[in-house]
Amino acid sequence: VTEFELIYKLINTQTVERSDVLTGIGDDCAVLAVPDGYSLAVSMDTLVSGVHFPDSASAFSVGYKSLAVNLSDLASTGAMPAWISLSLTMPVADENWIREFVSGIFQLASQYNVQLIGGDTCSGPLSISIQAHGFVKKPLLRSGARPDDLIYVSGHLGDSALGLRAYKAEENIAEGCLKRFNQPEPRIELGLWLTQVATSCIDISDGLVSDLGHICEKSCCGADIQMASIPLSDEFKAYFNQQPDYITAITFGDDYELCFTVNEQHSAAIDAYSNQSGLRLSCIGKIRSSGSVCFLDHDNKIITINNKGFEHFK
Ligand code: ADP
Ligand code: MG
Repeated sequence: VTEFELIYKLINTQTVERSDVLTGIGDDCAVLAVPDGYSLAVSMDTLVSGVHFPDSASAFSVGYKSLAVNLSDLASTGAMPAWISLSLTMPVADENWIREFVSGIFQLASQYNVQLIGGDTCSGPLSISIQAHGFVKKPLLRSGARPDDLIYVSGHLGDSALGLRAYKAEENIAEGCLKRFNQPEPRIELGLWLTQVATSCIDISDGLVSDLGHICEKSCCGADIQMASIPLSDEFKAYFNQQPDYITAITFGDDYELCFTVNEQHSAAIDAYSNQSGLRLSCIGKIRSSGSVCFLDHDNKIITINNKGFEHFK
């Protein structure tokens, strides 16, 4: 078999088969049916070996994470995932590597009934681009935050930063943190629910400082955050002997939790959703009519943050 035949054989092991895919893999274009009354939400993210994941990461987790970060963008928009296309560039077509890689993608894809509908394959340094497509009626945007809205984040921040340290041969990194780095959970169900209550939303890929900064910029507002309200996992706190490194938690990113804003009147509904879903939702501060993103200590003094989070070309 040729390298291309090998790839087609392996990508054809997917189990999801949706009725809205009129033509899938194998023709020049995929042909797709968007349901009446919905808009199409589209997002693309690229992961480059040595930049977004360590060269030593397993093929399975590279596949899983490549899809997870894309589904996370659909989640923050409040979209229901439907289809993905995959552009795969790799140095050699190694059958075992590709099999593990696609099984990482397909495990997460089948969880959300997402079908791979096409893509492209090239030789070159390892890099993966996925385009994710989803359906949305009332999209959550970065631009809707209003003064006095409460600011929430889901889950915990910082675990993924610790997970990466395990690759740097650091010991005592909890299994849960490594899993968080390798297999972040896209908050799809939360995003869908938030379309009813949130005024704005973003997923935390580059760190809270930077990503909440995007909400403030697009919504023309500022934000006051109580540093002590930043949700940290027990593993994260234990690693730092209860003197947690908050700066890492708010700047490293790669958590793929959602940061969203709601009018105060919805705070009880947020608590109820959190209780019923088992997903921690923490109120961390408030939107201000002006200013920037400020992190405050116990005495409401501003904490200076020099590291603003991950940026390419810096
Ligand atoms: P073309 O030369 O027309 O671009 P290709 O040989 O690149 O065609 O692709 C043939 C079919 O295989 C197309 O339907 C394309 O979408 C699909 N395909 C190619 N590479 C991938 C991939 N990495 N993942 C999913 N589908 C792929
Ligand atoms: Mg092609």
